[in-house]
Amino acid sequence: MKSLNRSIILNKVRTDGPISRATIAKETKLTPPTVSNLVSELIVSGLVIESEQGESIGGRKPTLLVINNTRFHIIGLDVGTKSIRAVLVNLSGTVLGEKETPIPLAITKDSLLKLIKQTITSLAHTHEDKEIIGIGVGMHGVVDVESGVSLFAPGLNLRDTPIKEFLEAELDLHVIIDNDVRAMAFGEYWFENGKNVDNMVTINIGHGVGAGIVLNGRLFYGDHDLAGEIGHMTVDLNGRLCSCGNHGCWETLISGPAIGRTALSYLEAGAKTMLGKKPLDGQAVYNAALQGDEVAKQVLEITGQYIGIGLTNLIHLLNPTKIIIGGGVSGASRFIMPKIRETIAERGLTKQAKETEIYCSEQGAFGTARGAAALVLGEIFEGDFPVKEM
Ligand SMILES: [Zn+2]
Repeated sequence: MKSLNRSIILNKVRTDGPISRATIAKETKLTPPTVSNLVSELIVSGLVIESEQGESIGGRKPTLLVINNTRFHIIGLDVGTKSIRAVLVNLSGTVLGEKETPIPLAITKDSLLKLIKQTITSLAHTHEDKEIIGIGVGMHGVVDVESGVSLFAPGLNLRDTPIKEFLEAELDLHVIIDNDVRAMAFGEYWFENGKNVDNMVTINIGHGVGAGIVLNGRLFYGDHDLAGEIGHMTVDLNGRLCSCGNHGCWETLISGPAIGRTALSYLEAGAKTMLGKKPLDGQAVYNAALQGDEVAKQVLEITGQYIGIGLTNLIHLLNPTKIIIGGGVSGASRFIMPKIRETIAERGLTKQAKETEIYCSEQGAFGTARGAAALVLGEIFEGDFPVKEM
């Protein structure tokens, strides 16, 4: 059921619970009878429960309200290039179960769909007592959000995979699908780091580079879901060839493979380093830096500088309150972060721009899966979830 006041109250319980009806009325400026009626509805629907008694300021102790974490559950999935990660969460997003299924090489469309379904059912079976009401999917590559079709998954070399249609028919559950970066970004917004911040950007730096943009508390898609493809912003006219066919994309300077290529150019120029030619990727450079290799440290610092330049552009374009960095490269935080902050402090136009908060994600390996679950939570708490009795 869609009602603005109902959503306001539900979200108040989510962010501020345990909370009394009187405090909700006071802080939302809704009348006590309105709050009382809508809270009764929320209790009947199973979204909110009465918890312990609060402190009295004279008279009867007020009953406090909290989100009902035992009634409904969501499964979130992160469909990557090598594995499917899944989490089962309650309405507060607490992870109650995890599962990871490897994806075999050269998988077909049908086999991938079956594997996704198996991952969901296997996680649901180990938590048989939990009622699942929705599935969120973060899919790598290009996704048509409306139809729930994975248009192109480059890492699996698959096109036009009808994930939403298949899962809804097979499991009889509501399914939301989005690309993995936007799922990750929404998770950051919905959970810890982005709390109470309405404008923020999460940038994923791994094999590729992409951003999930939250503006005014909502994911921003652009006209054709293309918003956030910031890895292909040109930063060097004569730079390296990118997978997209252009030269000098940001991605060619800061991705995991790009870090390997930068290190290789040092190696070929005769730099004294413990780095060998193979395998030379971001992880190898990070490992060498940890062992004190000066060239490896320098490569990561230069990478941090380029990340800082791109983020400064992003700050000037969107002026977000926070930028959160996720993906494999964020693991090298201790070597790249000082340069990122220094570069932004040098180049930002205003004091506020220079001081934009930059963090590395703390969500861990299952963060995108949890973010995908948050996409469903967002619908439930905004009253957009298509179940009549909710
Ligand atoms: Zn490119």
